[in-house]
Amino acid sequence: MIYLDNAATTRVLPVALEKIVRFAEEDYFNPSAGYAPAIAVKKELHRAAETIAEMLGASADEIIFTSCATESNNFALGCGIKNKKGNVVVSSGEHASVYECAMRLKSKGMEVRFVDPDSNGHVTPEKVAAATDENTAFVSVIHCSNETGVVNDIAAISATVRKISPKVVVHSDGVQAFAKIRTDVKELGVDLYSISAHKVGGMKGVGALYVRRGFGMQPFIAGGGQQDGRRSGTENVCGITSFAAAAKQYAETAASFDAAALRKIFTDKFGSMDNVRINGGGVTSGYIVSLSFKGLKGEIIAHGMEDRGILIGLGSACSTHVRSNRVLSAMGVDKEYAQGSVRISFSPFCNIEDATTAADALEQVTNELRIKMGR
Ligand code: PLP
Repeated sequence: MIYLDNAATTRVLPVALEKIVRFAEEDYFNPSAGYAPAIAVKKELHRAAETIAEMLGASADEIIFTSCATESNNFALGCGIKNKKGNVVVSSGEHASVYECAMRLKSKGMEVRFVDPDSNGHVTPEKVAAATDENTAFVSVIHCSNETGVVNDIAAISATVRKISPKVVVHSDGVQAFAKIRTDVKELGVDLYSISAHKVGGMKGVGALYVRRGFGMQPFIAGGGQQDGRRSGTENVCGITSFAAAAKQYAETAASFDAAALRKIFTDKFGSMDNVRINGGGVTSGYIVSLSFKGLKGEIIAHGMEDRGILIGLGSACSTHVRSNRVLSAMGVDKEYAQGSVRISFSPFCNIEDATTAADALEQVTNELRIKMGR
């Protein structure tokens, strides 16, 4: 099997598995307990926060662990808006976990302004600035698109909106950027930044939210006061410790991995073909390539690939039930193309051979489908 749906999830790395087993079987103590073995577990949680923080250019006290990035995004939009009378600016290229929160704010009466990506998939600082005014309370723009792999210039967006609305809160969803490209939160100029473990070799069901020191975030989940009262619930020790171990190794491997070379195999093959569109250009992470085949159906292409032992995605795994692709539509991709979209995504553990095999198979599958359909 060739697995090329790494933006949906990744295989758990052995270094992460070691932590999972250790903290499930041996060091299973509740980190809030007072005896020595439990205190040792609490220290391991702190070490994990230090590791993640270091990767983000932050401090351990700025990291709050959550149950997933969906929770991190709900936390950010649910508790990060300080001026409730202000407006909210969100890109329409967001993952559903930001987009749906924005829609919820809208249904509660907040003014929410959506900014479409350009035809290349980029949410530009100019467009965000045009939607922002001195009453803008919150801005959220995805760092790296889960649909196209396009990397938005969050530093420029942040600097621009802060000039217009000095008290604005800036959030970015960094799930597809973290451990792959540079994610220094101070350079990005964000107050809040969401990440997820299972995209970088960790377990599903673990995430984190960076909250800038001094921000004064109210808790989203109240209860026993864990994580200094910022997120209650007994910490997922297996998940958190394995997240840190996985992310560190993932990033180290990513540092010498040429994702762009794998992406190029697809863009070289399909870029100049009639009736095929490569979605997203300019600055991309290299880890995702989104292709649209005019007149075909993404699901049928993906099934054809699966029959050849190659697993690819259709777009955000969380939204496969949604027929039309919201993000591609926002970029102005025609329905005829959008319905024939597939997403191929890499990890630093992928290789050129597998990508080449997959690109050849994709060409065969789509050619065969076109012949069958007489297109
Ligand atoms: N944000 C982005 C950009 C994603 O790609 C995903 C997962 O697909 C999420 C958020 C949600 O992450 P999680 O599965 O940890 O809730």
